[in-house]
Amino acid sequence: MNHERSRELYDRALSVMPGGVNSSVRANMPHPFFIERGDGGHVIDADGNRYIDWVMGYGPLLYGHDMPEPVEAAVQSHASAGPMYGAPTGIEVEHAEFVARHVPSVESIRFVNSGTEATVSAVRLARGYTGRDKVVVMQGGYHGAQESTLVEGEPGDAHPSTAGIPESFAEHTLPIPFNDPEAAAEVFEEHGDDIAAVLVEPILANMGIVMPVDGYHETLRDLCDDHGSLLIFDEVITGFRVGGLGCAQSKFGVTPDVTTFGKIIGGGFPVGAIGGQAEIIEHFTPAGDVFQSGTFSGHPVTMAAGHEYLKYAAENDVYEHVNRLGRKLREGITEICAERAPEYTVVGTDSMFKTIFTRDAPDDPSECCPAGCRQDPDCGRFETCPKTGADVAAAETDRWERVFWQEMTDRGVFLTANQFECQFTSYAHTEEDVERTLEAYREAL
Ligand code: PLP
Repeated sequence: MNHERSRELYDRALSVMPGGVNSSVRANMPHPFFIERGDGGHVIDADGNRYIDWVMGYGPLLYGHDMPEPVEAAVQSHASAGPMYGAPTGIEVEHAEFVARHVPSVESIRFVNSGTEATVSAVRLARGYTGRDKVVVMQGGYHGAQESTLVEGEPGDAHPSTAGIPESFAEHTLPIPFNDPEAAAEVFEEHGDDIAAVLVEPILANMGIVMPVDGYHETLRDLCDDHGSLLIFDEVITGFRVGGLGCAQSKFGVTPDVTTFGKIIGGGFPVGAIGGQAEIIEHFTPAGDVFQSGTFSGHPVTMAAGHEYLKYAAENDVYEHVNRLGRKLREGITEICAERAPEYTVVGTDSMFKTIFTRDAPDDPSECCPAGCRQDPDCGRFETCPKTGADVAAAETDRWERVFWQEMTDRGVFLTANQFECQFTSYAHTEEDVERTLEAYREAL
């Protein structure tokens, strides 16, 4: 594949942008390919190379790169009416009503501009609502570029995970391992009266993909109830992707107090949102005393795109299609791994998939979960499949990034460049895309 034009663009970008990119995950080795345009489930780069795109903008693009006709019409009509006003519009109300009708935990919602803004505001809301400072997070979980959660370590020995964050911020964050009910009980035993919230992705979606073990979210729910803390589900990735329009909370049957959204809820435009019981969400200004504000919040074009996106999903076989392709990919990759790399663990659910390059093979790989790890205690891989962020980090992360990713890219298949982020199917992807991708896996593994 020729990448001359991408190399030239990257050369120029390095002079004017830190690392040549506007988001750190985009700086693939040795240089990223620059996208010229999308086409259904594919992207075409600046040199005219075509790739099957399973990155899907890191999650927002439920329909791939072609907007369904009603989405495109709504976007164009709102953009041409004047892109934004700094005053409320009807489309914000319609979108809020739709979300409140479909997501179990949501009565009231505040729209913002990114998933990061949503989780920052949710943590501030929980602290303001409870009058407490401490927040429990999962080791390896990701909640965007926010000071309170870019933290690593253990409860009582937590430190910022990046330069630029004062140590004192990390004092209020209690990182525990995902899927470990005892660790959760212990942290509540020690700090229960000071814990404002547990902030957790229903599925660790930025770290492998790690499904919860049976009963884990119920344990968190009970602990929060017993100690007067809020349970916040970060559904920035899983929202309107896992569990359909009811989101992951409906799939798992656990209702959080507060939910953060991003990605799909904005129909491919910049977005975030914080939803929950009205009694809690109304602590945001101007109804309450927890400051929250934004020039672009509830942007009419984003609201129109997000609203039409979700309405289209309600009226068409969108989730059936994306979940079927997701299952086919996971089943196909599981078969290929059983043959060529039995130590690898295929993970994912609904329209999400990934292969974690774990190091230990089960005795009989054919006895494993056939369509992606379910944390099933009867599965032959249960003892070794990743359950925490640390388990995923212990996999062959370099092999994914330096060898496998390149091999797949050379075969015209675009995957996330690192071991930790997941892949997504879209309504635009086809059975042929799945077959070609499996063929590339077969050759590359
Ligand atoms: N929360 C989760 C679970 C995410 O996956 C992300 C981003 O990938 C964020 C928060 C931050 O969202 P954004 O990148 O829109 O700021």
